[in-house]
Amino acid sequence: MRQLGRQAGSALTQTRIVPAPDDLRLELIGVPAAADIPLEVRFEAVSEGVLATGTAIAPLAGECARCLAPLTSSVTVGFQELYLYAEGRHDKHDKHDKHDEQEEQDAGEIYHLDGDLLDLEPAFRDAVVLALPMSPLCRDDCPGLCAECGVPLADAGPGHRHDAAVDPRWAALQQLSEHGNDKHQDRRAGAIDLQEG
Ligand SMILES: [Zn+2]
Ligand SMILES: [Zn+2]
Repeated sequence: MRQLGRQAGSALTQTRIVPAPDDLRLELIGVPAAADIPLEVRFEAVSEGVLATGTAIAPLAGECARCLAPLTSSVTVGFQELYLYAEGRHDKHDKHDKHDEQEEQDAGEIYHLDGDLLDLEPAFRDAVVLALPMSPLCRDDCPGLCAECGVPLADAGPGHRHDAAVDPRWAALQQLSEHGNDKHQDRRAGAIDLQEG
């Protein structure tokens, strides 16, 4: 930050790799703790402080909401934080921009420039959590698991099905039709005509 002057409009872009913070996940997917996150932050001097605009690529690991297979992907997030110059604390802000609105909500949490120390983690964390999918999929058309036997249908193939005889009620009907004078050639359970059987 030392290179960034206070002249409004003065800007500086930094890139670095930062370790992912802990506990950055939803139920099914999240950012592995300590994973490398490429981060680019543009610091721009504005009248009351420094506006930091970040872009980060967060690696994700989790499981498919339909077939439970492990999956990895990534999200690119953008976030922004305004750091006030310390003397900006005095009551001379204009009450016209978005920042002031937030300032009134949580006046105790305003960030102030303190030497080189800028903590972008809260803004980054919020952006990632918003970007995490509630129902991550291993692929858009994942067919999920067989409701009957639980195998992943993607592995089992399109012909995967279960003979309806597995259901004991249908098995009983099939027995009846086999022992009676069954004229039906089609033994598929759905084809049995109950009125004639
Ligand atoms: Zn899947
Ligand atoms: Zn099955």
